[in-house]
Amino acid sequence: MTPLHTKTLCPYCGVGCGLEVLQTTSRPGSNSDAERWQVRGDRAHPSSQGMVCVKGATVVESINRDRLLYPMLRDSLNEPFQQVSWETALDRIVEQIKAVRHSHGPDALCMYGSGQFVTEDYYTAQKLMKGCLGTNNFDANSRLCMSSAVAGYTQSFGSDGPPCCYEDLELTDCAVLIGTNTAECHPIVFNRLRKYHKKHPHVKLIVVDPRRTDTAAAADLHLAIRPGTDIDLLNGIAHLLVRWGYLDADFIQQHTQDFDRYEDVIRYYPPEAVAARCGITQTDLETAARYWGESQRVLSLWSMGINQSSEGTAKVRTLINLHLMTGMIGKPGAGPFSLTGQPNAMGGREAGGLSGLLPGYRSVKNPQHRAEVEQAWGLPIGQIAAEPGRTAWEMISGLETGAVQFLWIAATNPVVSMPDLERTKAALRRSPFTVYQEAYYPTETTAYAHVLLPATQWSEKTGTMTNSERRVTLCPAFQLAPGEAREDWAIFAEVGRRLGFTDQFAFSTAADIHAEFVQLTRDRPCDMSGISHDRLRREGPLQWPCPDKNFELEIRTDELADSIQNPKSKIQNSSRLYTDFRFHTPDQRARFAAYHSRGLAEPPDEQYPYILTTGRIYGHWHTQTRTGRIDKIRQMYPNPFIEIHPRDAASLGIEDDAWVEVRSRRGTARFVARVTRAIASGTVFVPMHWGGLWADQSEANALTHPEACPDSAQPELKACAVQLSPVHLDNAVRTIQPMRRENCVSSLST
Ligand code: SF4
Repeated sequence: MTPLHTKTLCPYCGVGCGLEVLQTTSRPGSNSDAERWQVRGDRAHPSSQGMVCVKGATVVESINRDRLLYPMLRDSLNEPFQQVSWETALDRIVEQIKAVRHSHGPDALCMYGSGQFVTEDYYTAQKLMKGCLGTNNFDANSRLCMSSAVAGYTQSFGSDGPPCCYEDLELTDCAVLIGTNTAECHPIVFNRLRKYHKKHPHVKLIVVDPRRTDTAAAADLHLAIRPGTDIDLLNGIAHLLVRWGYLDADFIQQHTQDFDRYEDVIRYYPPEAVAARCGITQTDLETAARYWGESQRVLSLWSMGINQSSEGTAKVRTLINLHLMTGMIGKPGAGPFSLTGQPNAMGGREAGGLSGLLPGYRSVKNPQHRAEVEQAWGLPIGQIAAEPGRTAWEMISGLETGAVQFLWIAATNPVVSMPDLERTKAALRRSPFTVYQEAYYPTETTAYAHVLLPATQWSEKTGTMTNSERRVTLCPAFQLAPGEAREDWAIFAEVGRRLGFTDQFAFSTAADIHAEFVQLTRDRPCDMSGISHDRLRREGPLQWPCPDKNFELEIRTDELADSIQNPKSKIQNSSRLYTDFRFHTPDQRARFAAYHSRGLAEPPDEQYPYILTTGRIYGHWHTQTRTGRIDKIRQMYPNPFIEIHPRDAASLGIEDDAWVEVRSRRGTARFVARVTRAIASGTVFVPMHWGGLWADQSEANALTHPEACPDSAQPELKACAVQLSPVHLDNAVRTIQPMRRENCVSSLST
């Protein structure tokens, strides 16, 4: 326990801002966390340089509200929970795992984890599920957030791993932000870029987004494309780059494969046709291509607007194509840079936290990778299954068919965040046995559990997290856990020991787990063998690759200056990947990918004529499990809302601030109208943060569908077809009641 003054990481988004937490009073009886703890940005943290947004600044106000304090148990969902001891709860879980494994085999067991885990939680969960229980049915909510980026990097470069760093925000000539409302969702990244952009008039900022977001408002060029036309746009830019001769022929020839196939595809994307398909002017399209072609260093940033798509991997790879054809990678200020949503989605990828992965950026499909991990874990060869396990949505469909008999959900809230919520809820009601391990009580998922396990969270447990620029930060515990809450990793390890895997789970601290984990990254692309809890405590955050030999932490200033003068010069350090232009494919060449756009999985039609797009807003975090409990943030956004263009509103008789009912083929929801030109006619926008705990019938995901990218299995949460109509609610219903506990705690009828 570290008292009084702690350096840590913000537990919200993947920007990964450094925080300093100061104990301001030890006054007995002081209940307010805002009084007891003061949070400020850590000026020494290289990622955020002392900056922090409203979520980071207020995080302590949520940590001791509405906590799950004791294990609870019930036999069926229509019974009330009973408080039980840890012994009883763990005995019940172990008994159930053994019974299901015996009767249905390991494939009937599933765990659904979270980018809120620290890496040590992720690693221990992998070892339990993939190693000891012999099922790859571990997936995380990161599946809904960035699995298309993982698949795109892996297919184009031979390995996952964002190649850039935040310093590139301040070294670029042209930043292309596509499918990311960075100003609201990754505010400190945006602050860094915006400051630099304002100071350097030659720097171009292009934003591609169907909405005129705060990000788009700052752009030199806003391309408000029709939803689903990203590949058309990117192929159209590529067409112009070829036509105008803005290619890096040496780079293409020496460091890539398959350019010819790609060139064959982009010849079908002349600017007139692309502009018409995307709903933008040909002049704007040509300006975007010219900005890219004329820049020495181009950086592209993206997040869920690209990833959450039924062609998410194709979009990622098509964006990477532009970097490969112009040699815009492996040098300062240039490269394709995915922004992760959750604070430790990156750590999850490193620890094997998706159903096709193993620790150290390994694949379950690769026999050598499986053997390396089995050996490290002291397990027999063949113990790890050879096929990827169930993805998040496949766990839901497995409950529907009865193939899944045991579901363990930890640190996430699928009853708000999954697509097609009515179907999700119905599947969860069918689950024979659901364990829900969570810090808060209630959440919307609480009502679907048979066992509740209280988990510690940020501030109460020690562990590491990796942010979007591959920087690992130690997050130490600085206060005691409430009630009987335990660390997630400690719960997984205890279940492992009770199942007989005592050697595999002989950890006593998170530092022990971390030390074992980093050995599995040795000589892998994400080599962290030079990182330990002790070193992080001594030296502060470290970027990988960080092998335990010849590691140089900082770029030398003269090397950086040289690289800016001569962008082809090679800097070998941990800040950027691929500085030697050697990729992780067998021939060390990056791969072009040739895709035609397939468009939306569910395009609008006569019956459902509008495209609904979903997203995030500045103050809230995911399903409000934390931010909904912070008064200041709740007051910023009293109601869930829908953005609608004035022309559409007029044609439907919808007035500003009136209620709107939205229907898709799957469900219905209602929102307060914001009539605005920020959204294009034909498209409407709804934030995804509201679940049944915070408002009645205002769940964006009641409307969305589960159609997913075939490569990444990431669902298309960003777009579905809807119809709209005004709805007249009486005044009593118009006011949203905070904390609809009865929606989330009471028993369910089955
Ligand atoms: S930008 Fe993200 S990591 Fe930084 S303070 Fe805000 S929520 Fe936290």
